[in-house]
Amino acid sequence: MATSVGFIGVGNMGNPMAGNVLKAGFPMTVFDLDPKAMENLVKAGAKAAGSAAEVVERSEVVFTSLPASPDVEKAYLEPGGLVERAKAGTILIDLSSVLPSTPRKIEPKAKAKGVGFLEAPVSGGVTGAAAGTLAIMVGGDAETLKRAEPVLKPIGPNIFHVGPPGAGNTVKAINNMMASVNSLAMMEGLALGVKAGLDPMTIYEVVKASSGASKALEGIPRSIVPRNFDPGFKVALMNKDLETFNTIAKELHVPVSFANVAQRYQQAAMAAGLEEQNTTAAMLVIERLACVQVSKGGEA
Ligand code: NAD
Repeated sequence: MATSVGFIGVGNMGNPMAGNVLKAGFPMTVFDLDPKAMENLVKAGAKAAGSAAEVVERSEVVFTSLPASPDVEKAYLEPGGLVERAKAGTILIDLSSVLPSTPRKIEPKAKAKGVGFLEAPVSGGVTGAAAGTLAIMVGGDAETLKRAEPVLKPIGPNIFHVGPPGAGNTVKAINNMMASVNSLAMMEGLALGVKAGLDPMTIYEVVKASSGASKALEGIPRSIVPRNFDPGFKVALMNKDLETFNTIAKELHVPVSFANVAQRYQQAAMAAGLEEQNTTAAMLVIERLACVQVSKGGEA
């Protein structure tokens, strides 16, 4: 019989990831604090649970995709939480982006109960989650990963075992720092270009074919020009990931610069009330600073 899978937290990322695991034929139980978030999955055949405890009782493998470290630590480690309720042999997999200290706290407690635990933060955004093409950065025991691979594959083909617990979220923080810096560099360039009289789509096409190209450029046609700042990936979550990068840097005494600049923009966006908007909403702050607007709803 196919492995029974549980999914806790089916928001912007969890929802399409759970959808792909369900489509791959695994019987699924889902739980989210927001009942609306579960509706499409229930229509597609998942069972809705009334609590996280119910999910872990019904599932051999349990995924979580929650906002940040406090949510994850609460869900796993509080009395009556996932670690306490999981039966021996269960595998718990956290797909959230958290501080490396979080999986380091959870894994030994799970292991002591005969429960497998993997941290497995992902990258590729909501588009990659829907397409089942995410990169998965796993920290934890190799044998547990081998057992979990069939349920991870529908989420993404690029499964990287990067080391012990904490290693996965370290790589994830490095990735997101680079993504954020690329994105903000793109936005500053765009503001300057438009103020100089260039068409934003010309900047997009030329840089895409040139040495300044990065995935961040896709934010121009997808979000900035059409003025669509719906998440996607929320400003508040990117701010949390930059905080993680800076925390690791402080712990290791590594002097870093760009993450601080990038985080300053995320914080300015949060101060402007944009924390629930897509990370590209930092463009609205940059436009204000430069007294320019890149586009007014589609017209460049
Ligand atoms: P989201 O806010 O859209 O979804 C989080 C979901 O968790 C919400 O539906 C919320 O109701 C639910 N939730 C919160 N606490 C819960 C609890 N205790 N029990 C059950 N449900 C609970 O966030 P998201 O964008 O889906 O991000 C989830 C994680 O994935 C974050 O750590 C984020 O940094 C990471 N991530 C996001 C993206 C992206 O593009 N959005 C990409 C890669 C990684």
